[in-house]
This record gives sequence, C-alpha cells and structure tokens, in this order.
Amino acid sequence: QAKRRGRNTYYWFSRELDDRVSHRVALRSALQRAIDEGQFELHYQPQFHGASSRVVGYEALIRWHHPERGFIPPGEFIGLAEETGQIVAINDWVVRTACQDNRRLMDMGLGQLPMAVNLSPTQFHRSGFVEAVLAMLEETGLPAALLELELTENILMDSTDKAIETLSALRQHGIGVVIDDFGTGFSSLSYLKHLPIDKIKIDRSFIKDVISDHRDAAIVQGIIAMANRLQLKVIAEGVETQAHHAYLSRLWCDLFQGFYFARPMPFDDLVAFMREHNARAHETDL
Ligand code: C2E
Ligand code: MG
Ligand code: MG
Ligand code: MG
Repeated sequence: QAKRRGRNTYYWFSRELDDRVSHRVALRSALQRAIDEGQFELHYQPQFHGASSRVVGYEALIRWHHPERGFIPPGEFIGLAEETGQIVAINDWVVRTACQDNRRLMDMGLGQLPMAVNLSPTQFHRSGFVEAVLAMLEETGLPAALLELELTENILMDSTDKAIETLSALRQHGIGVVIDDFGTGFSSLSYLKHLPIDKIKIDRSFIKDVISDHRDAAIVQGIIAMANRLQLKVIAEGVETQAHHAYLSRLWCDLFQGFYFARPMPFDDLVAFMREHNARAHETDL
C-alpha cells in the first residue's frame, strides 16, 4: 500500500524504517513537530443538494504538509495520532480552524452553511468535550447551527449511555451530529433508535460500484429508505460520476459529496468557488 503512494512514501515506510516500532517512533516525533510548527492545513469539500445543484454545507479534511516528505494523507497518521493521544491537540486545532474559516465565509457574505468536522474517539470521550466545543464556537463567533460533528459508528460502540448524554448536549446547543462511513462499523442498528443524530453519510465503499453491483445497490437503497423513514437526512459520499448522481437520485438520495461535484480544496479556493457558485445561483433565481 505504501509502495503505491510513490517514491517518498516508499522510502519512508519501507526502507529507512522497515520495522514497525521505529516507524512509529519516527512518525510520532514527526507528528509532534507538525503540531508545534503548524504543518497542518484544512481543505474543504462542498456538499450538494442534487436537484438544485446548490451547496448545502462543507466538510473539513485535514492535510499534512511535511517539509521533506511532502503531502501525507490523513489515513496514514490519524490512526497513530489516536493511539498516542496526539489526536486531541490535532483535532482541537481542526475544530477551531474549521469554525474560524466558516465564520470568515459568513462574514464575507458567502453563505451560512454547516461545516462538518471529523471527530476522533479520544476527543469525543474526553471529559469536558462539549464545553470545549462550545468554547471554540464562542471564541470564533460561529453559530452552533453552522457546526456539524461527524462520528463513526465505532465511537458509539462502548459506553453508549455516555455517548447519548454527549450527543444530546451537543444537539441541545444546536450542533449537528452525523454518522460518518455508515454501514462499515460493527455496531448494531439499535443505536439509530436511541441516539440523537441528524444525518447519516453512506460510506463511499457502497457507492463506488452501486450501479454494477446489485448487492451494493440493495444496501444503499435500504440505507436511504431507512433514513427517510426515520426522518434522518442522508448523504452519499464518494459520488464520482454523473451516473452515480443519477442513479442515487432515483433512489431518493438528495444530498451528495464527491469528486463529481467538487474536490476538497484550500480555503482560498473555496472562497472563489462559493463566489462563483453564488453568482450562478443568483442568475438561475432571476
Ligand atoms: P471521511 O471523513 O470519510 O472523508 C471522506 C474522504 O473521502 C476524504 O479523504 C475525501 O477526500 C475523500 N473523497 C471525497 N470525495 C471523494 C470521491 O468522490 N471519491 C473518492 N475516492 N474519495 C473521495 P481524506 O481527506 O483522505 O480523509 C480520509 C479520512 O481521514 C476521512 O474519511 C476521515 O475519517 C479522516 N480525517 C480527515 N480529516 C480528519 C480530521 O480533521 N480529523 C480526524 N479525526 N479525521 C480526519
Ligand atoms: Mg467525514
Ligand atoms: Mg466518510
Ligand atoms: Mg469514508
């Protein structure tokens, strides 16, 4: 897997540090430097309402620009950061920055749309988590309704009562709660009955071959129907083609995120994107 990512990654992961322990030690100290020196950046991917082609929200995705190694995708460091506890510092930065940037979009008159942020289990289960999020909203001046927190099913598996309490508190303050990568976790569906959530996001592994694989189609169709009956919003991620979009629309999915609509982009590009989008939306209104 590391090999496919190109030369730099290959050397880093396989040759120089071919045993797991030294790799972890090196990655851990590289991460610490990244935290201290601010090597992270957030990219933002717009989410769309299909029928109107309107942007209805964004997702913040972390990017690590290592001074020598270049870009390192989140899949290669979030797991370890979770194990070492460094994820807390990283993700606090993520939440704060995403709130700040969404407030900037608002101040520029570019829209008041929810910004989704991926949470880490450690961050979510930490005591004082809700208070910390509220403090960041206060500090950045972002209305609570413009923040959405994405959790994976696995976060909810243990300590369900505590999770319900935390989610209820978030919801009471108007913060949105989304189940990310829906269908890939190992939790039971019964949590849908008990947990105060707003939206589920169908994992992109089900979307990829949804047109050709009748099993994927059945799963996706089932998830959408269930979400609609439970009055939960449902969004498909990894929508890469016009055919995906058309097919999913026929299954009554109306919210989309994926390369077909827009790629994750740096904040400045998002600003330009939203300017153009709003201008176009204005034209169609006239
Ligand atoms: P995720 O939350 O499920 O994010 C969606 C991933 O799918 C992103 O990958 C995004 O770039 C990618 N994607 C979006 N549209 C498409 C598409 O049409 N096709 C394909 N093939 N991929 C698409 P990314 O940015 O590499 O992030 C991977 C995962 O890393 C995220 O999955 C999330 O679990 C985690 N992650 C990202 N940012 C953060 C963060 O700030 N904090 C934490 N704790 N985890 C993060
Ligand atoms: Mg996500
Ligand atoms: Mg996801
Ligand atoms: Mg995913």
